[in-house]
Amino acid sequence: MENDAKFKSGIITLIGRPNVGKSTLMNQMIGQKIAITSAKPQTTRKKILTVYTDEDCQMVFQDTPGLHEAQNKLGEYMVKIAKSSLEDVDVVLMLVEIGSFIGKTEKSLIEQLRLLHKPVILVMNKMDEKEPAQIQAAKKLYEKEMSFSEIVAVSALKHQGIDVLMQGIKKYLPYGPALYEEDTLTDQLERDLVAEIIREKALRCLRDEVPHGIAVYTDSMKERMKKSGEILMDIAATLVCERDSHKGMIIGKGGSMLKKIGMEARKDMEKLLECQVNLKLFVKVRRDWRDNETQLRNFGYRS
Ligand code: GDP
Ligand code: MG
Repeated sequence: MENDAKFKSGIITLIGRPNVGKSTLMNQMIGQKIAITSAKPQTTRKKILTVYTDEDCQMVFQDTPGLHEAQNKLGEYMVKIAKSSLEDVDVVLMLVEIGSFIGKTEKSLIEQLRLLHKPVILVMNKMDEKEPAQIQAAKKLYEKEMSFSEIVAVSALKHQGIDVLMQGIKKYLPYGPALYEEDTLTDQLERDLVAEIIREKALRCLRDEVPHGIAVYTDSMKERMKKSGEILMDIAATLVCERDSHKGMIIGKGGSMLKKIGMEARKDMEKLLECQVNLKLFVKVRRDWRDNETQLRNFGYRS
């Protein structure tokens, strides 16, 4: 494989406004759930790398937080990451939802992409929600705006158009050897993935006022062998929130909410780690952690 002159490899970045489906699409392309997704904007906080390898190519995907106005330090960090991820890429996937006009975010993104001189594939996502005529009309709008390398309609959620998209990406990748071992799936540490799973479940279970103020870190992960010879992973993790009232909501009546978050997280962890998991969750209050640089660094949001 390594000495095959026909092998292609490169970095592909996914950009677009929050909630267009970047993380869902990336998970579909690599066939594994790595990036967490939710209906709430700004679910993805860090830049995540994932890797897809087949016989003749390797695609390294960068999932970025969506571009949006920074509202606090965490917001600024997210915008910085989204912009910096455009520089070293081989192919850009610009994700949009299918609509009857081009939004302000998309217009300013296109301005930046014109200056970049890299292949840009326009991915019109959520086609499952639209009629063919609407998809055609949106395509025409975008064609007038910029000359994209390809325009592909997909449904990341329903796995439609993904193969066509991946063939399209392959066309624009440069020739070169694999950048990562062929069995690599992500650059994320297991402990970070575990924390992200918990954050996803908390985002999904809790009411709107809490989730943006939540960070999760893994305190410990320890393997032990059961008498039966099976492996069991003991995991302890802490959810950090901004207020005492939030702590109450996270724990829930008689601990019911925390139990629910823990149960759902454990199921995903067992799939990811391929072993039984024993999960312990703790909740702590750290006022205004989102505006505090030191705390951000402690939670792994390094710039
Ligand atoms: P991101 O913020 O761009 O990473 O977006 P996510 O991948 O987290 O997705 C945001 C929301 O859109 C989630 O609720 C997804 O389930 C949903 N979504 C993603 N792709 C599709 C799609 O193709 N069709 C539909 N109907 N929903 C989608
Ligand atoms: Mg995301």
